[in-house]
Amino acid sequence: MQVLTGLSQKEIEIITDNLHQSKFRARQIHNWIYLKSASSIDDMTDLSKDFREQLKKIAVVSNVKIKIKQISSDGTIKYLLEYPDGECVETVLMRFDNRANLTACVSSQVGCAVNCSFCATGKRGFVRNLTYKEIIEQVLTIQRDTGLKVTNVVFMGQGEPLLNLDNVLKAMEIFNESFQIGQRRITVSTSGIIPGIKRLAELDMQSTLAISLHAPEHDLRKKLMPIEEKFNLDELKLALKDYVQKTGRRITVEYLLIKDLNDTVPCAKKLAEYLFDLKCNVNIIPYNPTADNDYQRPSNNAIMRFKCLLEHSGKKVTVRLERGADIDAACGQLKGKVN
Ligand code: SF4
Repeated sequence: MQVLTGLSQKEIEIITDNLHQSKFRARQIHNWIYLKSASSIDDMTDLSKDFREQLKKIAVVSNVKIKIKQISSDGTIKYLLEYPDGECVETVLMRFDNRANLTACVSSQVGCAVNCSFCATGKRGFVRNLTYKEIIEQVLTIQRDTGLKVTNVVFMGQGEPLLNLDNVLKAMEIFNESFQIGQRRITVSTSGIIPGIKRLAELDMQSTLAISLHAPEHDLRKKLMPIEEKFNLDELKLALKDYVQKTGRRITVEYLLIKDLNDTVPCAKKLAEYLFDLKCNVNIIPYNPTADNDYQRPSNNAIMRFKCLLEHSGKKVTVRLERGADIDAACGQLKGKVN
């Protein structure tokens, strides 16, 4: 059975040609998939019944199942999705009361090889890359389930997107062309995979690059993120500066703030020094404790102190709003529970 999700209009035209139908029919199917979020071929009501029956013999809209769905009191919805091989990933829809934006946080891999010490996904190790179709399915599943149109996509779910860059780039292209989500509304977040950053720099795209820094010096970062051993802060800085120079785009620096570990005044000062000549905004993410480790959330005072010190250095700093605090909000938690 052919899965329609992820196919370009040209690829759908091959199917309609084989069924002796016009290119216009392919366009209708394409719109049903990406803009009207059809769940089944029967939903495509402007196709004749005969044609729908023919199509149903050779194709389905999707082969992904919602295994678990959790809804937070703040409107965040978290899904555990299952692919036909039985592997599962998490996808989250975030909405913010004061904004019209609907942001899908998508996964790029099953498991992850990067093994950050604060992350439940990393504990499982790498299982496999997602195909671009499987990445797209995540956003379409949200749209089908909610009847809403996703406006922003962030690659901040499970996996390291720059270690699956071919599929991530293809998915980004489809988000842009078929879902009509502007490149500037797509963010790719990386733990600091330098070859991937260099490749993105050459592509000169308008999407946002977010870098998970989490520590301003080598030893502490290595403890939190073993990837620091391979791609250290000094080399990372050169790659990020080169990225900014080539693309002209401002980077987002993500900093997970953990009590008594990286939330100190010296850490804030070192971070300010590290970032002083980098065109970037900083996003502080207060750690959300999980059962998997002993890390703690910093006090509100410590969060504000860290923010002020960075702002003092001239950076624009935001503290990420906590979303889905009453559901298993941290990356990998929902899946961990099922396992
Ligand atoms: S935080 Fe991201 S990069 Fe690090 S182990 Fe988890 S999924 Fe991988």
